[in-house]
Amino acid sequence: MIQTKLLVIGSGPAGYSAGIYAGRAGIPPLLIEGIQPGGQLTTTTEVENFPGFPDGIDANELMDNMRKQAERFGTRILSNIVTKTDFSTQPYRVWLDDGQEIQSKAIIIATGASAKYLGLPDEQKYMGQGVSACATCDGFFYRKKVVAVVGGGDTACEEATYLAGLANKVYLVVRKPFLRASRIMQERVLNNDKIEILFETNAIGLYGENGVEGVHLIHKKGEDGEREYDLPIDGFFLAIGHHPNSELFLPWVKTDEQGYIITEGDSPRTGIPGVYAAGDVADSHYRQAIVAAAAGAKAAMEAEKYIKDHE
Ligand code: NDP
Repeated sequence: MIQTKLLVIGSGPAGYSAGIYAGRAGIPPLLIEGIQPGGQLTTTTEVENFPGFPDGIDANELMDNMRKQAERFGTRILSNIVTKTDFSTQPYRVWLDDGQEIQSKAIIIATGASAKYLGLPDEQKYMGQGVSACATCDGFFYRKKVVAVVGGGDTACEEATYLAGLANKVYLVVRKPFLRASRIMQERVLNNDKIEILFETNAIGLYGENGVEGVHLIHKKGEDGEREYDLPIDGFFLAIGHHPNSELFLPWVKTDEQGYIITEGDSPRTGIPGVYAAGDVADSHYRQAIVAAAAGAKAAMEAEKYIKDHE
């Protein structure tokens, strides 16, 4: 069993910045890295909007830097995942995948969010054989091939633009008659000859003998002129948003209808004394690395006060 004053769960910008702030405040935490060390940002390439990097920075380099900075101030990082929690009594208890128990006075939940899938049985069938939710992770396999990206938001436009740099052709499958993405992202897509947008179109299945060879599509579902057709593709990328990784904490913290942890006002307080939530797991709106980093800093400052008040 491991005992600590402060436990940080998650290794994205919120988790690492909590580590940096808590470490500098004299409460170096134990940080559980989770299933995706460095968090969601590691699935992207260049980060252009994190202040301090006028020429942009490689996303993995940015996360490595945050990790080193947290370690510099004493944060101890464990490569493991949390499988169970008990916040009913002090000290709060958390169990890891290997059965180890951790007891901690204060906890910062910074578990982020994960990509959503459409829920088609074929997505599971072809997972890793043509289905992906991360263009920057898997795009390399589709050089000079044909791919489809589902979604009409910023992520979908970003992924389509990235894939267009590798593939011969990118179809953007958008269920509405318009894109939801920001203007600049829309323009990048609209001005790219390799990208063709299929508006008012839904993917309803995939086909292929050895991996994805095509997608079954339906245009104008339930309307006049509804049409089903097959489109040959080599890769099928999902970019339809994310869901918060809050399941482990549901018995203890309040969440909204989408599962985002509800905190008190603009603070990271969850309502359980000494338990805080920071970053995308508690942010359905902004979902930006810089916002998550700031939330991690706030959570660490709150945790520091809580720990000192209860010593
Ligand atoms: P969004 O929620 O903004 O967009 C999701 C898209 O997927 C929408 O077009 C939505 O369609 C579509 N969609 C959702 N469910 C389905 C479904 N079941 N079938 C078909 N289509 C579906 O998510 P994003 O991940 O794009 O963006 C999340 C946040 O992150 C946003 O605030 C965004 O601005 C930000 N972001 C910013 C970036 C940047 O600035 N560089 C890059 C990436 C993200 P519909 O419109 O019909 O609901």
